[in-house]
Amino acid sequence: MSYPELKMLIAGEWVFGSTGKNEPVICPADGSEIGQVPHASPADLDRALDSSRDGFNNWRAMTPLSRQAILEKAAGLLEDRFEVNSANLTREMGKPLAEAKVEMQVAIDLLRWYGEEGKRIYGRIIPSRFPGMQHEARKVPVGPALAFVAWNFPATNVMRKVAGALAAGCSITIKPSEETPATAIAIGVALVDAGLPAGVLNIVFGVPSDVSEHLLSSTIPRKLSFTGSVPVGIHLQQLAAKNMIRCTMELGGHSPVMVFKDADIEAAAQLCAMGKFRNAGQVCISPTRFFVEAAVHDEFLAAFKKHVEAVNPGNGLDASTSMGPLVAERRIDIMDGFVSDAVAKGAELLVGGGRIQSPGSFYQATLLGNVPETARIMTEEPFGPIAPTISFHSLDEVIERANSLPFGLAAYAFTNSPKTVRILKSEIESGMLAINSLHVHSVETPFGGLKFSGYGYEGGIEGLDAFLATKYSSEIYN
Ligand code: NAD
Repeated sequence: MSYPELKMLIAGEWVFGSTGKNEPVICPADGSEIGQVPHASPADLDRALDSSRDGFNNWRAMTPLSRQAILEKAAGLLEDRFEVNSANLTREMGKPLAEAKVEMQVAIDLLRWYGEEGKRIYGRIIPSRFPGMQHEARKVPVGPALAFVAWNFPATNVMRKVAGALAAGCSITIKPSEETPATAIAIGVALVDAGLPAGVLNIVFGVPSDVSEHLLSSTIPRKLSFTGSVPVGIHLQQLAAKNMIRCTMELGGHSPVMVFKDADIEAAAQLCAMGKFRNAGQVCISPTRFFVEAAVHDEFLAAFKKHVEAVNPGNGLDASTSMGPLVAERRIDIMDGFVSDAVAKGAELLVGGGRIQSPGSFYQATLLGNVPETARIMTEEPFGPIAPTISFHSLDEVIERANSLPFGLAAYAFTNSPKTVRILKSEIESGMLAINSLHVHSVETPFGGLKFSGYGYEGGIEGLDAFLATKYSSEIYN
């Protein structure tokens, strides 16, 4: 079982590209180089764009049933290659193999679900106010799509975009993260092997800003879907605006967790620890600000601490590992910065707080108590295994604090009060809210943010709609 040779998919061919330039792919568990990812030249990108235009014209002319048959076959191939692909995901990204397998399964489920849902793209007939006239609104694929995605979910970040676009009848050119290329390539290989026509999917790599600037300066793409940070999202929207390319923006978050005194405290603490350290906290919907009602603060913290101490960091391929490394060395200093800033401002360091070993970019599962809201970690997305906690006294107060940031992606609450739940559903400014769980995404439910966390949705019928346009026509019939 070895890490594959990395190539780009351009116009139906697997190629190294014409720059002759590569960059190393580093295994975050031991710092070793496991592959070389090629970079596309401007000419390679132009070929991808031209082929995505031609691929779109072929693909949209096919029936939804024939498209679904290809997506279904690719899902089956991904199932056949499940073990190898999951292990490679762990090698390049670091997350424990069990998490990689869950992610690969969700990616397969996404492909199946969207393939099926693509058969149900309905329009509507609108009764006219004029006699003898008929109004029709039909949904059509929006055109060749572009996608750029982050490294933290190498399979599902890619598949949410690829499956939605293909099921809608769009072609798509994607630049996955150069840090996690093999998983995206494995998805491409399955689709090509399943009979996807040339140009319907292109996979390119390179210097991210160069690639996006080149692709977005073309008038061929009609849609951009991006998963990544807020600043890059804003920059890409500005580039897309010049060619009136419509966007979906899945950006960063800083999710509040509100633990009320009427909750099951032990259950909440256990779930919070599981959710916080999943993927070493490198999850856009990771619980990141823990507000605990004063009356149960000490009880919750004691229970939470026990679970944080039980986290077992290590190589993701080792079965006993419950948390892998950070994706890259560059994230270690960022974590240290958050911890030292919080402690300098009065927070208590209760568990962890430093790197573990080198080589490998491991950071301890970290718990901070009494973190003042002036600490950077309370306003900047940590994207790592640090849990800052603080107490609150009233519902109004915690809602105000939860809503105080520009982000609005996910929020979580633990309570057994129906009244509190009703108020939170109405007042919390986030695209997703989970009560007594940390579950905010399924294949069939809409996933997306408010405020600076972006706009547009993936998942559910909304994720298909993201790749559709509505065409209206009227007709006088005699
Ligand atoms: P980032 O924005 O720097 O990079 C994200 C991806 O975009 C990477 O693959 C990178 O190569 C690429 N990229 C960077 N600059 C680019 C450019 N100019 N043009 C094109 N592509 C470019 O973010 P990051 O720090 O690597 O990833 C973590 C961020 O992503 C966090 O803020 C996280 O919350 C966010 N994220 C959001 C979601 C979501 O669905 N809302 C999911 C995962 C990650």
